[in-house]
Amino acid sequence: MPGRRGCLIRIPANRQPPVTSVSPKPASDPARPGTERPNLLGMTPGELGEALDSHFLGRGQPAYRARQTARWVHAGDARSIAAMTDLPLAERNALERSFRLEEPELDTVSVSTDGTAKHLWRLRGGEVVESVLIPAPGRLTLCISSQAGCALACRFCATGWSGFGRQLSAAEIAGQYRASARWAGEHGMGSVSNVVFMGMGEPLANRKAVFPALTILNSGYGLGARRITVSTVGVIPGIEALAERREQFRLALSLHAPVSELRRELIPLEKRYPLDQLINTLEAFNRSGGRRITFEYTMIRGVNDDLALLPPLTGLARRVQAFVNLIPFNPIPYVDWRPSHRNRVQAYRQGLEEAGVPVAVREPRGRDIDAACGQLRAARYPGRRSAHPVEDASPADLPQPGEGPQ
Ligand code: SAH
Repeated sequence: MPGRRGCLIRIPANRQPPVTSVSPKPASDPARPGTERPNLLGMTPGELGEALDSHFLGRGQPAYRARQTARWVHAGDARSIAAMTDLPLAERNALERSFRLEEPELDTVSVSTDGTAKHLWRLRGGEVVESVLIPAPGRLTLCISSQAGCALACRFCATGWSGFGRQLSAAEIAGQYRASARWAGEHGMGSVSNVVFMGMGEPLANRKAVFPALTILNSGYGLGARRITVSTVGVIPGIEALAERREQFRLALSLHAPVSELRRELIPLEKRYPLDQLINTLEAFNRSGGRRITFEYTMIRGVNDDLALLPPLTGLARRVQAFVNLIPFNPIPYVDWRPSHRNRVQAYRQGLEEAGVPVAVREPRGRDIDAACGQLRAARYPGRRSAHPVEDASPADLPQPGEGPQ
């Protein structure tokens, strides 16, 4: 039940061990304004190897020092360069002068009665983002954020209502994984088996950071590409770019309506990238080989759950061989909408099944800790709306003034 708060555990950050370096140095060199030591967590394994090789070579150190350091980065247990204890002290100090190892700073962690654990991370400059650990039999899924806020203003989404803050860097995205995975291990949740980009933000409107972060998760931390899902509301150029990658990252499309007229009422981006073009793009994505597409369909009572919408939904799912996730709408403060009736959700499930479409009803998890999309942050930082340009989305990817939540 939303709003039920009796049994959750909130651990304020000041009772957590520090997440940042044990011998913190200023991130930028005050003597050289504008310079900043690169964060080891934001480099792909290739970039990391190159940077460390040249660093240690310049110091006359053996080649294995670079591998030793990279191992520390990807093993994930060292919170700082100072903690890389098999490097000589002088080398740790030299590394610290040239690089930093900086995870997002833990603000709050909330644990739901159903075992879901949500972290709120404070970023440089004061923005906050969230990630959620969702345990299930045989798997532990981590849901991470790609932007602080979101500019796309979907009406049913709390993040959309809270507005756009800024893009996350690759280090901030990979850092959520590193810090959450370590927390999961330390708290008996086991290791993260799957990552989904279903936290705050539109990942394909931040490809500059999300694409390297995918490489880092996959070939740095060793998470299989098929265990990493990028969820998008339909940024066509981003889907095309993902299709061009050779790794088989999974794609989820937040569909929410199978006809354009209705979809554009829920999702302003539909006006820019309409459904027919989107589905053509998904067909091409399929042709690029061996990947399964998921449709996310948030069921909102009386809004997008009419039985007349079932045939077009089935038709689209069959066209791109999509797996359909039906998600009962999670109420948010900004609109007076409710989740579909249970029997309507079941009717959709049955209708899809009978048409041969694989389908699952996603049970709401962590509702007592506001674990759905943007809710904790929205509760803490309410009412901010802005339309800052999104760095590597074209202006056309953004909602126009007057569209979406006001
Ligand atoms: N921008 C991306 C990823 C973030 S949202 C995308 O849109 O896919 C992750 C998922 O949560 C999306 O499927 C989104 O539609 C869904 N979602 C957002 N708000 C919701 C709500 N109030 N109830 C249920 N699902 C919601």
